[in-house]
Amino acid sequence: MLSSLLLLLTAQSNPVTVITNVSVITPGSNQISQSQDVGFDNTKILFVKPTGTEPIIPSATKVDGTGKFIIPGLWDMHVHLADERSLGLFTANGVTGIRVMFGQPLQLTWRKNIQTGKSPGPEMVLAGPIVDGPKPVWNGSIGVSTPDEARAAVRKIKKDGYDFVKVYSLLSRECYLAIADECKKQKIDFAGHVPHSVGILEAQAAGQRTSEHVMEVALECSDHPEAYRAKIESAAQEGLTKASEVSRELAPTIVGSYSLEKQTKLIDELAKGSMWQCPTLVVLRNIANLDNSSINNENQNKYVSPFMKVQWDPKNDFRFKNRKAEDWDRSRANYSSIVEFTRKMIAAKVKILAGTDCLNPYVYAGYSLHEELELLVKAGMTPTDALASATINPAKFFGRDKSIGTISEGSVASFVLLDANPLEDIRNTHRISAVAQNGKYYDRKALDKILKDREY
Ligand SMILES: [Zn+2]
Repeated sequence: MLSSLLLLLTAQSNPVTVITNVSVITPGSNQISQSQDVGFDNTKILFVKPTGTEPIIPSATKVDGTGKFIIPGLWDMHVHLADERSLGLFTANGVTGIRVMFGQPLQLTWRKNIQTGKSPGPEMVLAGPIVDGPKPVWNGSIGVSTPDEARAAVRKIKKDGYDFVKVYSLLSRECYLAIADECKKQKIDFAGHVPHSVGILEAQAAGQRTSEHVMEVALECSDHPEAYRAKIESAAQEGLTKASEVSRELAPTIVGSYSLEKQTKLIDELAKGSMWQCPTLVVLRNIANLDNSSINNENQNKYVSPFMKVQWDPKNDFRFKNRKAEDWDRSRANYSSIVEFTRKMIAAKVKILAGTDCLNPYVYAGYSLHEELELLVKAGMTPTDALASATINPAKFFGRDKSIGTISEGSVASFVLLDANPLEDIRNTHRISAVAQNGKYYDRKALDKILKDREY
C-alpha cells in the first residue's frame, strides 16, 4: 500500500494522472469494478480505489472516465515486423506488448529506441533468427544440419541478446532435440512451429514453450504418426518444396486414419501440460481466403507499404502462387477443422495465447489482434477469456503476472481505456479512447496523430 504522504511525494517528482470514475475490467473474470479512480505515474499504476477515497493530489492531471472501461494493455503474441514506423500502429491499437517471432539485429535497435522514448511502440520480446533445417523456408533463418550446428545456433542467439529461440518446421528430429537440450543448458526458452519431424506431445515434453498455428494435429491423431513423420522428415532435409510434396501425397492416408480418440487424448494432455497454444486464427483464415477480397480492409490498407501490398498478392507468394480452385477449397476446409479443434481446446481449458502472425497477407499490425479476439470468441471463448488470452495469459506465460496483464497497484502502467464494454461485445476493444504505454499516456488525439503519421 502506498501511503498518502508517499503518494504526494511521488506526485512531486513524477507527474501523476488519475482516471476518475472508470469501470475496471479483470480479464478472465466477469467482474467489473465500477466507479474506480486509477492513478498512475510515468511507469506504474499507483492506486486503484473506489472514486473519492484517495486524497486529492493537487498536481495530478484528471481524466474523466465516466462511462468508460479500462483493460490491461493487449499483447499480440505472434508478430513479424517489416519496419520501425509500423511499431506505432500497435500502440495506436492498444497493443502494448508484442512477441516478435523472427528476430533480426535491427530490431534490437528498434527496441532500444522505444525504451528510450525516441519512438512510440510496444514492449518487445524478441526471438532470434528462425532456426530451421539445412534448406530453410525463409531467407535470414539459421539452417542447421547437425546437432552441433543446432547447439551453436542456440548459443549465438543467446549471446546476441535475443530473448528466445524460434524453432521451425523443417528441423530434423535430432537437431530439434539438441536445441531443446542446449536451451535447457543455456537457460533460454524455445518456441515456434512444432517441426514435421516431432510430435506435439513430444515437443511439449521437450520443453517447447508455445506451439503456433495449431500445426501437426492431423499427423498426431493418425494411425502411424512415427512412420509418416520419418518420411516427411527426410524430405524436409531437401527443403520446403519436397516436404510439401511428400505431405500432400501422405495427406489422404493421414486424414483418412484420423482418430477422435487420439484427438481427445491429445487435447487432455495439452490441457494438463506446460505448452501454450497460439492458434493465430486470423492468419489461417486469411491465407485460406486469399482468392476472395473479403479479407481486404480498405481502411487499413493505407498503413501498408506499397512493397508489402505487392507481397500480399498470392500470385507473388511462393506459398500460394500455384494454388488452383480446389486447393483454395481444401485450405478452407482445413481452416474449418482448425477452428473446430480450437473450439475443443477452449472447452478443455487448454492454455491459449492471442497472436496474429501480422505481416502475412491482410494481417494488419495492431488492428488484427482485435480480429483475433473476435475469432476466438466465434470459436467458443467468452469475451473475458478472449481478453485474458491477450493480457493475463501472456503475463503468466512470461512469469510476470504481478506486473503486467492486470490493472492493480504496482503493475506497469500499460492499459487501454475503452468507450464501451468489451464483455458485452468483444468488438468494443476497437473503441479506444486512450492508451497508456509504460506510463506514457496517449489520448485519442495523440493516437490519431500516430496513425496519421503512418499513412502511405
Ligand atoms: Zn509467424
